[in-house]
Parts: sequence; structure tokens; C-alpha cells
Amino acid sequence: MTHFSEPPKKSLGQHFLHERGVIDKIILAIDPRPGDRIVEIGPGQGALTLPLLARHGALTAIEFDRDLLVPLAAAASDVGRLTLVSADALNVDLTALAQGEPIRLVGNLPYNVSSPILFHALDHAAAIRDMHFMLQKEVVDRMAAAPGSKVYGRLSVMLQAYCRVTPLFKVPPGAFRPPPKVDSAVVRLVPRAEAEIGIADRARFAAVVRAAFGQRRKTLRNALNGVADAAAIEAAGLEPGLRAEQVDVAGFVRLANLPTA
Ligand code: SAM
Repeated sequence: MTHFSEPPKKSLGQHFLHERGVIDKIILAIDPRPGDRIVEIGPGQGALTLPLLARHGALTAIEFDRDLLVPLAAAASDVGRLTLVSADALNVDLTALAQGEPIRLVGNLPYNVSSPILFHALDHAAAIRDMHFMLQKEVVDRMAAAPGSKVYGRLSVMLQAYCRVTPLFKVPPGAFRPPPKVDSAVVRLVPRAEAEIGIADRARFAAVVRAAFGQRRKTLRNALNGVADAAAIEAAGLEPGLRAEQVDVAGFVRLANLPTA
């Protein structure tokens, strides 16, 4: 039996799944099909990696913690073909990794860098078929929130603009060792086709959304000062007296797509 001798590293968000029922539910949600190219972020001690490998035969996993690589490779050796990438997932060019054939990203993400990893994945969305991630439940709630909700914000708009977001199920702290302080949840993200996204300039869209939610208590007119004026807000069919949390994704897309003066 393989021995992982290092204690879990808090700084790397290491909470290892141990509940077989949860692992099975994740694999059922992923539903791997022959030929799928699966890439896992943060395999850790292989809680998800090894059962996925047993089921699918081959996968690629990106792990930052070098101490885990040798025992993980040893544990996988008689299970299937595991390609380990020793790197910070934020530095991995997922488009290059995909080699023209969209990948399926999975992972029980390190919670301390989950938002940067999500935004990194969005940058490579055209190379990704879908994503199944375990995250803090509170983050999944924000990702899936609708306008008017208290937790609707920049993360909701950015994720929903580029992906269909489906929360799947909640996972209690006791499913992990050591248990995190918060509830977790598994979410499915399916990148939208370019035509469906309809964003003319991604940097402009990101800047508008960032400014609008930068000061969420302010009206659009005030929050977007210097980014879009009242006439532009009206031209996008929005009321300048609204606050960002009242504007749906399509509204932000219309606003960002207007030609700038
Ligand atoms: N998948 C395993 C499981 O479910 O038990 C481990 C999950 S643990 C929450 C997160 C994993 O991500 C750890 O193995 C950690 O070392 C790794 N990790 C942390 N930061 C990372 C990064 N920037 N890039 C890649 N992996 C990272």
C-alpha cells in the first residue's frame, strides 16, 4: 500500500476527501465517456484520481505539492495511465494542454485559490468541454446567484456570462480530512459557445462588471463613473439609478458592447 507520509498542508488548502459515497457521486456527475480527456486540478492523495482512473483508464492531473507526486504516481501505477503535471494550475496553459480537443476539467479545488483558478479556466474556456469542481458552498452559491440575491455579484456575472452554472450537491465538512470549517458543494460549469456569449471585448466586459460591483451600494451612474456615462447606461436599456445587483448578465453584456466615446 502506498504511504503518503507528509501531513496535510494548510497553506495549499489540503483537505482530502475520504467518503466513498461523495467520491462516487462526483464520478457519477462527471459521467466519463470513452475518449474523454479528463484533467484534474489538485489530485492530492488521489481520493478522486484513483477511482476515476480505475473507471476511465487514463487522466492528467496537475498538482502543486511535489511531496505528493511520487506516492501518487506509485498508487496509480497499477490502476491506469496517470500523467502528472508538477505545476501551479494557474501557470498551466490549458489551451495548449488540450491540443485542439476540449478537455473535461475536474477537481476538489484548494479553496484559498479557487476564484483565481475559476478565472484562469474562463480564460481557456474555448478549450474546455465542461468542469466539475468541489468548492466552498458559499462560492457555489455566489456563482449561481440570480440578480436581486444578496450574493449576486462579480463572480455570478463573470461565470454565468461564459458558462452554464449548475450546482449539484452539498458536501459536509466531515467528508474531508482534516475537515474544513465550511460546507462544500459540487458544481458543473459548461462553457457557452462564442455566439451565445455575445461579448465583443472581454477586457471591457470585465472592467464594466468590476467597476459596477466595486461599489455595490452605489447606483450604476456613480459606480460606473469614468467607465460608462448615464447616456450609455440608458442606451443599454438600463436605468442609471439601478444598483449592479439588480442588473442581469444580458444587461452587462449590452452595456459593455456599446461603443465607447
Ligand atoms: N483531490 C484531492 C482530494 O479530493 O482529496 C485533494 C483536494 S485538496 C482540497 C486540494 C489539492 O490541490 C491539494 O492536493 C493541493 O496540494 C493542490 N493544490 C493547491 N494549490 C494548487 C495549485 N495552485 N495548483 C495545483 N494544485 C494545487
